[in-house]
Amino acid sequence: MRLPLTSRVWIPLQLFKLNFKIQQANMSTRIPQSFDYFLVLDFEATCDNKKKIEPQEIIEFPVLKVNAETYEVESVFHHFVKPRYHPTLTNFCMNLTSITQTEVDDGELFPVVLQEFDKWMKEDVGLGKQFLFITCGDWDLKTMLPSQCALENLQVPQYCKKWLNIKKSYAVMTGEYNKGMISMMRGLQLSHTGHLHRGFDDCLNIAIILRALANRGCKFLPTMSIS
Ligand code: AMP
Ligand code: MG
Ligand code: MG
Repeated sequence: MRLPLTSRVWIPLQLFKLNFKIQQANMSTRIPQSFDYFLVLDFEATCDNKKKIEPQEIIEFPVLKVNAETYEVESVFHHFVKPRYHPTLTNFCMNLTSITQTEVDDGELFPVVLQEFDKWMKEDVGLGKQFLFITCGDWDLKTMLPSQCALENLQVPQYCKKWLNIKKSYAVMTGEYNKGMISMMRGLQLSHTGHLHRGFDDCLNIAIILRALANRGCKFLPTMSIS
């Protein structure tokens, strides 16, 4: 598989593989899914401490293509995005996400990244395949992507209008609605890897939760769609 470009994200990917081996021991209750791939997505965006940045803009756009039978990551889309309206990140945002000013300065503006993503969807996933986006919460695809597209006068891609919020699968499997990724991981006795609120690391951890729920016999179906 294609590895992410920066060496910084290489270590969590190795940990992900280690975690995968541990979980393989416990996959007897898996059931067949209705999808070929799960596309784990987690945006990061401009922010400040207790203040809203308007307009809020996406700064990291990572998606993992996870095989719905093996739960292995087969391809990675990962781009940093240069914000158009507030190009200088706040210290709060850099501390929260670990994303540096240089990473966003070296990124492309959102329309270019969305175009690259569309290319990846067509070439590395295949629009004829059965896939389901997986997010942690509804903010990414219900709020952030539509507002970012509106800001740039772009249409939200049709394939990004349906997803599964992993918190709902967790609630169904455990009977508890957990607010955050860390508490879900704790509840499933999984170890968190990487930096919380760095999009790529968040995707890896969501993929670990996805696989743990699959190992407990969870069936993944869409939990929300927009028109
Ligand atoms: P997450 O996927 O939970 O890492 O968060 C996505 C985005 O939500 C971040 O990139 C921030 O823009 C915003 N966000 C998350 N947590 C906070 C926080 N404690 N304060 C301000 N903004 C936040
Ligand atoms: Mg998130
Ligand atoms: Mg995140």
